[in-house]
Amino acid sequence: MHPQLAADLDRLPDLLEVTRRHAVTFLDGLAKAPVVPDRPAPRAVPLPEEAAGLQAALRDFAARWEPGLSASAGPRYLGFVTGGVTPAALAGDWLTATVDQNAMSSLDATGQHLERETVGWLRDLFGLSDGHHGALVSGATMSNTVGLAIAREWLGERLGVSPAEDGVAALGTVRVLSGSPHSSVAKGLSMLGLGRAALRTVATLPGREAVDPEALERALRETDGPCVVVANAGTVNTVDFDDLRALAALRDRYGFWLHIDAAFGAFAALSPEHAHLVDGLDLADSLCVDLHKWLNVPYDSAVQFTRRRDLQARVFQNAAAYLGPLGEHPDLVHLTPENSRRMRALAAWFTLRAYGRDGHREIVERCVACAHTLGAAVEAVEGLCLLAPVRLNVVCFTLTESPTAERLAALADGLAAEAFLTPTVLAGRPALRAAFSNWRTTQADTRRIAAALERAVRELPRPRG
Ligand SMILES: *Cc1c(COP(=O)(O)O)cnc(C)c1O
Repeated sequence: MHPQLAADLDRLPDLLEVTRRHAVTFLDGLAKAPVVPDRPAPRAVPLPEEAAGLQAALRDFAARWEPGLSASAGPRYLGFVTGGVTPAALAGDWLTATVDQNAMSSLDATGQHLERETVGWLRDLFGLSDGHHGALVSGATMSNTVGLAIAREWLGERLGVSPAEDGVAALGTVRVLSGSPHSSVAKGLSMLGLGRAALRTVATLPGREAVDPEALERALRETDGPCVVVANAGTVNTVDFDDLRALAALRDRYGFWLHIDAAFGAFAALSPEHAHLVDGLDLADSLCVDLHKWLNVPYDSAVQFTRRRDLQARVFQNAAAYLGPLGEHPDLVHLTPENSRRMRALAAWFTLRAYGRDGHREIVERCVACAHTLGAAVEAVEGLCLLAPVRLNVVCFTLTESPTAERLAALADGLAAEAFLTPTVLAGRPALRAAFSNWRTTQADTRRIAAALERAVRELPRPRG
C-alpha cells in the first residue's frame, strides 16, 4: 500500500472526525454567509504528482474552492427549485458513501431491497396505488427520460414493433403533446432519438400555464396514430397544474400514453389544503418526482414510477451471463439507465424514517406559507407586481416600470448577498421567481428577504429615457 494511503488508513477515525468538524463549521456558517458569494473561480492547478493525504486535500478545498460556493443548502437560496438536506438525509448520504454498495442486483446483498422499501414509502407519500412500480434515478430529467423511454416502447407495442430491439426508426413520426413542458422533456426526446421536434405545445388556459383540455382534444383529433401526452403537475414559473383527471378521461377516449411531470408539484399531495391540485396523479402511465428538491435529500435523486414495468425492462434490460434472469421482479440493473449505481435510496429512506409523513408535510406547508408571505410583501412594495397568484411555493413577479431582463438581473444582483432568485420569462415578460423548498427556511428568513427586496428595488437605478 502507498505509505500515504497507509497513513490515512491508520488515522481514519481521526480524519473522519476532522472532516465532520469541518462540515459542522460549514453548516453553521450557512445563515451568515452571502447566499451567492461575489468571487471568481480559482485558477485550475496541475494534477498533484505526489500524495499529500486527506488532510492536505481538505485544506486545499477549504482555501481555494469552498469560499466560492453558494449557500444553496441554506434558508435564503430561492433559485430554481433547490431544496436542502434534512439532518437525517445528510446522515443517510454519508452512510451511502460509507457502505459503498452497488445496489443493482440481488447477487451480493440486500441493497436494492432497501430501495424497494423506500419506493413503497414514496408511493404512499404521494397517494399512489400499488399498480405503480418505481426506481430511483439521478434527477427529474432522467426520470422524465425513463418515462418517455417506456412511452416509446408502448408506442411500438401499439404499432407491433419494438423500438428497443429494432431502433426508433420503426416508429415513424412520433407526437408528444404538452401544455407547458419543462425543458428537460425536449432534452429527453433528443436523447431517446424521438427528436425535439416531436414535441408540440398545446394552448394553455387563458392567463395560465395549465393546458386547455379542449385544445388538447382538438390536437388529439388531428394526430394520426398513438401519441404521448406530457401532463404538468407544477410548472416552474407559476406552479400551475394540468387537470389530471380531465387528461386521464381523454386518455381513455383517445388511447395515448400519459406521462406526468410532477417533479416538485407532487408534494402538494402532502398538504390536505393543496392535495386537490394533484388529484388524479395515480392515473399516470409514468410519473416523475424529484427527491433532491422538496424531499430535501442531497443531489442527485429522483423517483420514476410506471404501471408498465414489463415495457421498462424491455428497454433497460442488461443481459449478461453473470446477472440473473429478468423474472417477475427484475433487478434494478434491468430497470434504469445505469448499471452500477450507488445505494441512492438511503438518503430518502433516512429522512422518511426520521420525519415520516408528518415531518415532511410540515416542511411543505411551511414553504407554502413562506411563499404567501413573500407574495404579500411583493404586492406591498411599490414598483413590483405579481405575475401570477401564489398557488403553492413559488412567487413569480416583475417590475412595474420597464421590466427589462437587464433591470431584473440588476435587481437580482442587488439581492445576491441576502437571497438568490432566478430570472425567467413568463408569456414574453421578463420576471424573477422565488421558489421555497428548503426545510431550513422560516418566516423570519422570508421577512429578511422581503426587506432586502424592498431595499434593492429602491436602490435600482431609474430606467433611462
Ligand atoms: C426541476 C424540474 C425538472 C428537471 O429536474 P432535474 O432534477 O434538474 O433533472 C423537470 N421538471 C420539472 C417540473 C422540474 O421542476
